[in-house]
Amino acid sequence: MSRRACAPSSDDLTFFFDPWHAPLAEAARTLAMAPWPEGEEDPHAVAKQLAAAGLLRACVPASVGGLAARDPDAIDVRAVCLVREALGWGSGLLDTIFAMQGLGSYPIVLAGTAAQREEYLPAVLRGESLAAFAITEPEAGTDVSALSTVARRDGDGWVLDGEKTFISNAGVAGHYVVFANADPSRGRRGITAFIVRPGDPGFIFRGAIPMMADHPIGTIGFEGCRLGDERRLGAVGDGFRIAMSTLDAFRSTVGAAALGMARRALDESLDRVTKRRQFGKAIAEFQTVQGYLADMATELDAARLLVFRAAWAKDRGAPRVTLEASMGKMFATEAAQRVIDRAVQLHGGTGVVRGVAVERLYREVRALRIYEGTTEVQRLVIAGQLLPKGAKGEA
Ligand SMILES: Cc1cc2nc3c(=O)[nH]c(=O)nc-3n(C[C@H](O)[C@H](O)[C@H](O)COP(=O)(O)OP(=O)(O)OC[C@H]3O[C@@H](n4cnc5c(N)ncnc54)[C@H](O)[C@@H]3O)c2cc1C
Repeated sequence: MSRRACAPSSDDLTFFFDPWHAPLAEAARTLAMAPWPEGEEDPHAVAKQLAAAGLLRACVPASVGGLAARDPDAIDVRAVCLVREALGWGSGLLDTIFAMQGLGSYPIVLAGTAAQREEYLPAVLRGESLAAFAITEPEAGTDVSALSTVARRDGDGWVLDGEKTFISNAGVAGHYVVFANADPSRGRRGITAFIVRPGDPGFIFRGAIPMMADHPIGTIGFEGCRLGDERRLGAVGDGFRIAMSTLDAFRSTVGAAALGMARRALDESLDRVTKRRQFGKAIAEFQTVQGYLADMATELDAARLLVFRAAWAKDRGAPRVTLEASMGKMFATEAAQRVIDRAVQLHGGTGVVRGVAVERLYREVRALRIYEGTTEVQRLVIAGQLLPKGAKGEA
């Protein structure tokens, strides 16, 4: 297997990267390719491994011990993408735990006070505490502005009531960034962010949700959950902006994880088609098989260009990369699904045997087309960026 085929890295598309990206990508690749000890799927153990490999430094800004970015108070999106691409190649669980350390801490990077940053970010960096981002509710999925968790003023503090579902790291997180409405009469302008900890009175972990691929996720509830005002993150009514800015920064990184999974599927396929013999020759000699391989590699490279274009634009200081990130996320996750499906096909019956790499990838990649904005929503977002104001019609 050639080196180019066997792991994603920063050694191509060099125009997108700085010299310090190469050792980071190498560290992520080393961890992703290391054999993972049987039964070590505990998210806390995974976070410790990620910290020990120096990868969680990509989740927090340089000012709290993270990696040098253009702005010492920002994260470097290309770094997050490179790590997710490498981890996605190795294990969906590794990628999930890494991504959540970023998604559940970036709102604190964006809107946290000095005290909040000091209290939560170093523990995330060391892998000692798992982070979560809680916006989805049973009746507010794609339409997050319809969330019904409320935050009521109570003396100097707040009381939260409501339920959040499909929350990654539910039940294992050390803190949750929770979005609740402090003034429902103002719609999305009432949405406010809070930091909730599992020991807070009125916080309830309702249970885990079993997923088709390994992913710690579940439902949490708030029944008269009391918080001091020091747990409010950002201004009252600023929650929707904080949530959208976080998702804007991380959206392209979902595409990067998909790239890693698809690259692994291509690698597995190249290996398989050169070894598997039918009709007296390696199946790689059949032109139909070669056509599949060519399509897989081309889709993968096209997706990679879109993903790293979005990450690069963000790192150069673009305030929003809505169009670029949506294109990268949508194209890469859809392309990855097609590439992995082809890989299963090229493996024949072996491709659907539980435990075979392409079978695992087939299950792991599916959720990426749904979370952090479904493909359908990315298409609306992209069209919204293209059309003049007033020409979009009803959403
Ligand atoms: C593995 C996984 C991890 C997740 N982790 C988190 C997390 O950590 N934190 C968190 O808050 N949430 C998380 N989520 C929730 C995720 O963000 C939502 O599942 C997603 O936003 C979709 O919402 P929904 O499931 O309610 O689907 P729905 O909103 O019910 O959508 C169902 C279908 O309708 C389509 N649809 C909806 N509206 C439109 C429209 N206007 N136009 C066209 N089509 C439309 C959708 O595209 C989709 O195909 C996670 C989900 C998964 C699967």
